[in-house]
Amino acid sequence: MMDDEYLRNLMVERQLVARGISDPRVLEAMRAVPRHRFMPEYSRKNAYEDMALPIGQNQTISQPYMVAIMTELLRLSGSERVLEIGTGSGYQAAVLAHLAREVVTVERIPELAGTAQVALRELGYENVICILSDGTLGAPDHAPFDRILVTAGSSDVPIPLIDQLGEGGILVAPVGDRASQQIVQLIKSGGDIQKNYKTHCIFVPLIGRYGWNY
Ligand code: SAH
Repeated sequence: MMDDEYLRNLMVERQLVARGISDPRVLEAMRAVPRHRFMPEYSRKNAYEDMALPIGQNQTISQPYMVAIMTELLRLSGSERVLEIGTGSGYQAAVLAHLAREVVTVERIPELAGTAQVALRELGYENVICILSDGTLGAPDHAPFDRILVTAGSSDVPIPLIDQLGEGGILVAPVGDRASQQIVQLIKSGGDIQKNYKTHCIFVPLIGRYGWNY
């Protein structure tokens, strides 16, 4: 079996650099994080393939390219406090942990939150706080945030998340209907919200008070 570091470098060159991901810090983080360690055994053989993969509980770990695009849109320099909604496997939180000062990540399914927390701890990520709750409400105890990343789809960005984004902050989320969405990058400045629409995508639903009902 080829070693995982080799497969990761290949993933970064062929799936990310070749498609225009250029932020050197994002590429470096994705070379570093052992993606296979965030997956159940049955998905590991495909860990570095160009696809989303099942992680149990009907949920998926996002395609590496989607992780890279969304992370790049956050424009992280290293000093930020980041909120992630939808911990899932914990992989995206680990990538963010390389690029920001602190990551608060929220998951609604206890089994996933538990597995992700164990993986993050085993790999030594000490700047990630895992919370089990409805992420459409944000994480009011830790707000405001410099950056917010939503990794499940909703028809609109939940209002509490916009409220918990600090001045000059950037929020990235998949917005659309249940079947397909578009990535939106929202920038808060001077009491104004600027919205930039990016690539089309397919995410599992964001379920909660300010998301879908089921
Ligand atoms: N970022 C993840 C992949 C996200 S899959 C990773 O790197 O693996 C989307 C996740 O969002 C799922 O685990 C799902 O359970 C979770 N989710 C859906 N609605 C949520 C909500 N209201 N609050 C928190 N998590 C939610």
